[in-house]
Amino acid sequence: MSSEKSKVYFGSIQHGIMAKFASFAVKVDKITEMLIEQTPIEKKDKIAIKMHLGFQDGYQTIPVFFVRRIVEALKKTGGYPFITDTSTAVYNAVNRGYTQETCGCPIIPVAGVKDGYSTPVEINFRGFDTLDLGGVLKDADVLIDLSHAKGHGACGYGGAIKNLALGGYAASSRWYKIHGVSHVDQYWDGEKGSIEHAQKLVEACPYRALSYDEKNHKLARNYHDCHQCFTCLELDEGVGAVKVPRESYSAFQEMIAISSQKVLETFDPSKVFYLNFLTQITAYCDCLGAGQPPVVNDIGILGSKDIIAIETATLDLIKKEGLIKELIPPYLKHVNLDPSADLHPFMRLHGPYKDPYEAVKFGEKLNMGSSQYELVEVLSPEETAKMKPAGKTFESEPTFF
Ligand code: SF4
Repeated sequence: MSSEKSKVYFGSIQHGIMAKFASFAVKVDKITEMLIEQTPIEKKDKIAIKMHLGFQDGYQTIPVFFVRRIVEALKKTGGYPFITDTSTAVYNAVNRGYTQETCGCPIIPVAGVKDGYSTPVEINFRGFDTLDLGGVLKDADVLIDLSHAKGHGACGYGGAIKNLALGGYAASSRWYKIHGVSHVDQYWDGEKGSIEHAQKLVEACPYRALSYDEKNHKLARNYHDCHQCFTCLELDEGVGAVKVPRESYSAFQEMIAISSQKVLETFDPSKVFYLNFLTQITAYCDCLGAGQPPVVNDIGILGSKDIIAIETATLDLIKKEGLIKELIPPYLKHVNLDPSADLHPFMRLHGPYKDPYEAVKFGEKLNMGSSQYELVEVLSPEETAKMKPAGKTFESEPTFF
């Protein structure tokens, strides 16, 4: 990577004047156009727009209003955009307003209709040799990583890296290998812990993150739900049957960095760009399939050619904004709100072992990009405040009265 800082374009949700030319939609258009100009898209190129289309009752994914505008801008290049995500998310995307008619392009399951259209990519990480990359991504010429920035139970934050890492693979890789990587380290010693002890641990966990299989005398932790409150360790004192290994949490972060890198390796780097929507920032990911209170104020949109730069900038802006304390869900019982603790808001919510910068740092080590970025604001409120006020804009053409 060059020593030059990577550019990250920023469009604030705030505007300096009540006018269409200063609006958030215009900033989204402008940033998209700037990135398209920097991307050598050829006529007939197949353009994969990787999104998280959400699940079930979740409504806080990127609004179709913006998706349509991005699709139309891409069509002007002469390429053929299509949206892709996991087969389940694609199948019921219609319930959240995403259809070919509304988005303006086809929506294709990343690994085909039976989730079996994939190609193995070598990772050789913690005993896992390969992952099954979605064949649809492999077939595409251009990649637009279009992400909704929000919290995530397993790693603290879900954005551009997570969008490719978890959503770019067939379900068996996603669940058994990518999520499964946290289970490589042993955290239950059945020789030391009795059946009764295991049952007590399950009952004591305030997040129901532990489950017990009596037949096999196995205690399992759902790392997504664990908030590192260490109640299980306190109860285990003197027994030594259970562990909360720090490295298991890092392993997931490293795994998503590796798996997103493997997606990117299938593209010419010049033919990729990233857009992160910092709106409706919830504590958990869109995969939860439920509406959630937004725990950070809307910030805006970021765009870049560098995945590490955009992820770092996204996390920095969210850190600067901080949490909306009143909207933190009551079931998060161990949120650290101590202002003297230098913690990212997502670590405050999800626990000290879920540092959202960790995956980004692993990605930088893998030469995926640079955390050194220059934030270039587009149509800042200060700039637009000085512009000539627009005339009346309500109900312009077509008019019916
Ligand atoms: S650390 Fe806390 S949340 Fe995690 S498994 Fe133990 S008791 Fe449950």
